[in-house]
Amino acid sequence: MEIDSLSSLERREILLTDIRNAIEVEWANPLKMNNDDAVLRSSLTLSDIDSAYARMRRFSPLLRQLFPETEYRNGIIDSDLVEVPRLKEALNSPRIGANITGRLMMKLDSHLAVAGSVKARGGIYEVLKHAETLAVEHGILENFEDDYCKLAGAEARKFFASQKLQVGSTGNLGLAVGIMGAALGFQTIVHMSGDAKEWKKALLRSRGAVVLEHAGSYSEAVEAGRLESKADASSYFVDDESSQELFLGYAVAAKMLTAQLQREKIAVDKQHPLFVYLPCGVGGAPGGITFGLKQLFGEHVHCFFVEPTQAPCMLLGMLTGLFNNISVQDIGLSGNTQADGLAVGRPSDFVGEFIMPFLSGSFTIKDKRIFDYLHLLWEQEGIFLEPSACAAIHGPVCMGRSAVMDEYKYDNNLGRYMANATHIIWATGGNLVPEEIRAQLLAKKL
Ligand SMILES: *Cc1c(COP(=O)(O)O)cnc(C)c1O
Repeated sequence: MEIDSLSSLERREILLTDIRNAIEVEWANPLKMNNDDAVLRSSLTLSDIDSAYARMRRFSPLLRQLFPETEYRNGIIDSDLVEVPRLKEALNSPRIGANITGRLMMKLDSHLAVAGSVKARGGIYEVLKHAETLAVEHGILENFEDDYCKLAGAEARKFFASQKLQVGSTGNLGLAVGIMGAALGFQTIVHMSGDAKEWKKALLRSRGAVVLEHAGSYSEAVEAGRLESKADASSYFVDDESSQELFLGYAVAAKMLTAQLQREKIAVDKQHPLFVYLPCGVGGAPGGITFGLKQLFGEHVHCFFVEPTQAPCMLLGMLTGLFNNISVQDIGLSGNTQADGLAVGRPSDFVGEFIMPFLSGSFTIKDKRIFDYLHLLWEQEGIFLEPSACAAIHGPVCMGRSAVMDEYKYDNNLGRYMANATHIIWATGGNLVPEEIRAQLLAKKL
């Protein structure tokens, strides 16, 4: 039967069967809305992103002081946008046959200051917002115009030492929250899932955070942390499964990318579409960035998520309409993947439904292919990314060569503008991976 003649219900059934069988899939979201309508019905707005950005700027003098590595960006946590022409050529070679047209770029959040992953955006933002709220409540800061470097002073540190900060994580969010929290002097407790890497735990301990190891999955580590924090009035929990603060911290990235594209004279309009490919775990980071980009570029930006075939929790939630009421384990998948930042069985409790009207689609990828991309990127561009981040490289490949995406381009009148497109692979992590682990990953063949 022709794919065109299948009803959307039948298509959904075929997709769900493939997902259940851990087969790689490509999905164009039939419920994506006209951007103006999606913006209108959204409970968060551009002004929420603007105030989050203003908050990051208020904290920039403090960040410069606490983390001298942020000095050259004036205390703002952001990353370079680089072109990756050799990767593009290799992906377009007959072996892979990606057929990418336009420019292929990478947003190197892998190299973000402090935490070396996209979590430095959301995680640090939420810690700073909490610290600001406490400091204003307790008279350490008089108002938002006060000198934020006071927060590194003796009075503030003494106060923060009486306060707890907790988070549940597969690793990277723990690093961002743990390092930032400990740097301010909070008692910082990181609940790590069983798949969290040893080096991340060791790094956190060296910065003064307490690491509690849980045998179970990411969801169980989050639940354990949430319960422990709830029982303690002096404790604040950064909840990766439901936090709007994290989400807005990620969304700020869109403002920074806009400025960067302008500086590089890269147009984004009807004739120059922008495609952004984001690895997705619980959904906060890719959801927040997508939300920000859609506010700023509207229908001219096309955002896609990429998830591992064993942990496609966001796609499963969206396809079934059950969002966080279904887990990948419910359909017989393991939730296990070498892409530890994406090893999430159940999505965020708000991102799926919230981002659905904005999202262009999703792809899933097998671990074996993630490692192929990891090696290829290293060989071609000398850039090392952790496996989770490499999943995003599958985005432009699918966009160029899949029949489902040909249809997406047709439906969105993109066909004749694809030669002018800019594709951005959101490189979400990798710079803090220790040398010997890097060598192991680069030698690994699945
Ligand atoms: C956390 C993470 C992601 C995905 O972010 P979510 O908010 O969990 O969807 C992607 N890549 C890396 C490296 C991460 O650490």
